Amino acid sequence: MIPSHAPNSVLNSAMKHAALWVILLSMPVRSANLPISARPVPSAQLADNPEVRSSLAWFARNLAAINEQQIRLTEIPAPPFQESQRAAAIKTLLASSGLEVQIDNTGNVIGELRGATEKEIVVLSAHLDTVFPPSTEVKVRHEGARLLAPGISDNGTGLASLVAIARACHEAHIKPRRTILFVADVGEEGEGNLRGMRALIDAYKPKLKAVIVLDGSGTDHVTTKALASRRVEATITGPGGHSWSDFGMPNPINALVRASVRFINTRVPVAPRTTFNLGQIEGGTSVNSIPYEAKLKVDIRSESEDELAKLELALRECIAAGVRDEMESARDRSKGKLDWKVELLGSRPGGELHANSPLLAALRAADEYVGNQSRIERSSTDANVPLSNGIDAISIGAGGIGGGAHSLNEWYEPTGREMGLKRALLTLLGVSGLAEEQAR
Ligand SMILES: [Zn+2]
Repeated sequence: MIPSHAPNSVLNSAMKHAALWVILLSMPVRSANLPISARPVPSAQLADNPEVRSSLAWFARNLAAINEQQIRLTEIPAPPFQESQRAAAIKTLLASSGLEVQIDNTGNVIGELRGATEKEIVVLSAHLDTVFPPSTEVKVRHEGARLLAPGISDNGTGLASLVAIARACHEAHIKPRRTILFVADVGEEGEGNLRGMRALIDAYKPKLKAVIVLDGSGTDHVTTKALASRRVEATITGPGGHSWSDFGMPNPINALVRASVRFINTRVPVAPRTTFNLGQIEGGTSVNSIPYEAKLKVDIRSESEDELAKLELALRECIAAGVRDEMESARDRSKGKLDWKVELLGSRPGGELHANSPLLAALRAADEYVGNQSRIERSSTDANVPLSNGIDAISIGAGGIGGGAHSLNEWYEPTGREMGLKRALLTLLGVSGLAEEQAR
């Protein structure tokens, strides 16, 4: 379960603000090894500030509307590479919160809340795409407090929260010091290969000071370590033929099975944690045909780039060996031979947030303020891209509880959503700071 207790209501608000004041002051502001531009803004005024208070209070009054928004967004299909319909809906919502909104060439929706300076930018993002193909039923079902639909949590929660946080800032007339970009990005899942976030980092890298990724539900973790991964596709091809008359001819599916058995017997270390998954296999045209093609998609992940490279090499060797075995055992090699190739479908870079990063300090201060505890996690998210570029980034859940991500039984429950929203907003404002006229 996720701790979701609200701050002690007996504490009067002045004391709570004083508490955050102290926490934010204790952030490593003067850390000598931080360049000047990376210093967190003096956030002492943050929670003591009437606009911030008003933005935080907006959530409690609008929880039902946020649930409705999440349902509406989830019911707009957003299969990989087909996010544009959902993007258009987000664009409208962000524009209605007073943001200047554009959709970039990659398909990312970018809503700008101009800060006192445009030379420094912080990003709050949530990915638009789901893992589900276009034919998937995405109508949201209700079971008590629970909402069920593919993508309801990942990333219905992130998107609904992105929009809600933009709205809360707008309603409360928040004017940040650094410019905030509210981004709904494409291509986070699978073969999207983080293309939305890659384009965003390419475009804004010199000005970008921090990226906060809202991904899924919960408030129990903060991803500061980017898990490196590779997605690989092996293809084996041959002449193909008739199951009876051409029996003995080399068979690509046989070769792929031989190769797969070799590969799944590969030993991977427990530490550094290294994993692989044979996720998709296809080939053949009918039961009585020797296929001319067989394909296999494999996902490999590791805490170590070295192990990742080793495992990819092992896969290549196993495919080569599987093809060799099949050729050697083929009775009839006169009708052709097997060919194979292994292609990289995607590669996600690793990286890690510095332990004394101002962004992590802001998250910790927000956690403290809302009475939350979260553990550091390593995972593969949009934050991989900024982290691998040396830009401060985290990925967090956007509140509430959820489960069954990437399955047809995915669910979400809004219990504790308000805390998640406050946590995200305070972290965001912790790194954006407030414009001077508001920082009083
Ligand atoms: Zn996600």
